[in-house]
Amino acid sequence: MDLLKYLKKLVVSIPLCDRCLGRQFSNLIPSPDNEAKGKVLKDFLFMNEMLTREEKPRKALKIVKALAESGHGPSLSFIKKNFGLNVVPKPCYICENEINSLIENAAARIIEKSSEIEFKTFYAGLTLPVSIEEKDEKVKSFFKLKFGEALKNELNREIIRKIEKTLQRKPEMKRPDVLFVYDAVRKRVSTQINSIFLKSSYKKLVGGIAQTKWRGTDGENTTPSIEKMLEEILLPAYNGRGLKFHGAGREDVDVKMLGEGRPFIVEILEPKIRNVDLEKLRSEFNSRFGNMVEITGFLNATYSEVPKLKLEAEIHKKSYRVVFETEREVSEEELRDLSERLTGVVVNQRTPLRVLKRRKDKVRKKVVYKAVFRRLGGNLYEASITCSGGLYVKELLHGDEGRTTPSVAGLLNTKIKIVEMEVTGIEGG
Ligand SMILES: [Zn+2]
Repeated sequence: MDLLKYLKKLVVSIPLCDRCLGRQFSNLIPSPDNEAKGKVLKDFLFMNEMLTREEKPRKALKIVKALAESGHGPSLSFIKKNFGLNVVPKPCYICENEINSLIENAAARIIEKSSEIEFKTFYAGLTLPVSIEEKDEKVKSFFKLKFGEALKNELNREIIRKIEKTLQRKPEMKRPDVLFVYDAVRKRVSTQINSIFLKSSYKKLVGGIAQTKWRGTDGENTTPSIEKMLEEILLPAYNGRGLKFHGAGREDVDVKMLGEGRPFIVEILEPKIRNVDLEKLRSEFNSRFGNMVEITGFLNATYSEVPKLKLEAEIHKKSYRVVFETEREVSEEELRDLSERLTGVVVNQRTPLRVLKRRKDKVRKKVVYKAVFRRLGGNLYEASITCSGGLYVKELLHGDEGRTTPSVAGLLNTKIKIVEMEVTGIEGG
């Protein structure tokens, strides 16, 4: 079948507005304007009928009348002039002549809504009444039209084009700053604002500070946390809904984090503001919390850096200083021997008893790269340990009832109590 036959069959069967007609043949020519295509097709059909009028006047009239009913200007004038008839155009079978105002309204409502949000890139779409999409599909399948564009595709494209032109902002399909969705049934705009990611490192200068907020169900926990401190500074600045903390590993609440600090990425959820002076944020944080937690300058990051950060935390070596007390006195020779036996050893560590509630019970294999011991006086000793990320260092010391082997307590055959502990360095941190 050629284009003319398709066109004639369609035009005499149902009235379609220019845009809805053009859409059915859209993919036959690479240009986005379906309304212009529909108009060209109607003109072409009219011209063709004028040419063949001499041979088949009746048939020609049928098509010109159908064109007039679909609102085609030259056809309306032709019938009026030659037959003195005023044809009343019928509403479009698919959109009831609503499609252009639908595009206008959607774009206008989205542009209005966009003033509440700061963004560089956007994407937009809409949800339609089911009937209009069904009718478009029905036309495509009934007339076997395989070269049309999907209705929703066209509408989204047109809306995006209008917004882009008015706001001078870039549309981006993959992770735009904000996604607008216009609900054509409820006439409402909803937004999905994508997170902002910032990376930095923290030093925890005192004990008694958790990394993240208490998420347990058993009552309130008032331990201060780095996450909470970040919330207090970042949420008002970005006008965000919430915050997610992604740390490159973690240390216990009582353990200090020194050296170069521990890297982290903070994710600000649904920020309505995106342009913030990062240096000002850092100095605000440090002047408010610097006696407990100190952070380095924020850098912009992306969501894909989060899994990388977690992975690196597992690979990177960590260094600790631990002060511990033994039940019995340990000689200098035993300390040297201990250092030799632990340096370079692979530790088999079952999930510690204290975290069993939260983590799966399994055996982890971790390496102790270096372990040096020093007597401080009485039964107090200091250990400097460098090991794989993810090794539970307290358990390496006290043995966790035999769940960590080898351990300092096991090798010395004594009981051990941790007195003080701090992270002194993270490789790559
Ligand atoms: Zn239409």
